[in-house]
Amino acid sequence: MSYKNPAKAREYAKKWYFKNIEKIKIYRKKRIEKRREYDKIYAYKNKEHIAKKRKEYRRKNKARLSDLRYKYYKENRTVLLANMKIRGKKRHRELRNKILIHYGGNPPKCACCKENYIEFLGVDHINGDGAKERKEFKRRGVNFYRYLIKNNYPKGYRILCHNCNMSFGLYGYCPHQKR
Ligand SMILES: [Zn+2]
Ligand SMILES: [Zn+2]
Repeated sequence: MSYKNPAKAREYAKKWYFKNIEKIKIYRKKRIEKRREYDKIYAYKNKEHIAKKRKEYRRKNKARLSDLRYKYYKENRTVLLANMKIRGKKRHRELRNKILIHYGGNPPKCACCKENYIEFLGVDHINGDGAKERKEFKRRGVNFYRYLIKNNYPKGYRILCHNCNMSFGLYGYCPHQKR
């Protein structure tokens, strides 16, 4: 290739490039793959070293990083909190559905009156220890659902609608059962 005529040289290079474009693409892809593979092996071999470096970096830049984090939080506070709320609600519903189905069947219904609007249903402690559970063990809402799942759905619970639940709680019976 002659550099005395740059226009011609460029033309030639262009032609060559388009003629070999498929080969070039394959070569680039292979190179990237190789690089990735190499990085992976490097990261694996130097796991401890990298972790140490990272830790050191975090320690040295602690103030700056926490400033950045705080700044990010402050700037995006409304969105972040809204997202958190949405995620929390979704998670709460998922857990609740799981519990309702386990103790109340699928679809879940009240053990007393067969009410099946899930909005009206709740978990009832058959031996009436609900207050104790909530107060003493601080198990309510999501915490309570998590506790049930973690303990492999312990016995002693059933699903009742809020009407029946109230009646059992206040009177010790439900009028539905007196019919
Ligand atoms: Zn009921
Ligand atoms: Zn009832």
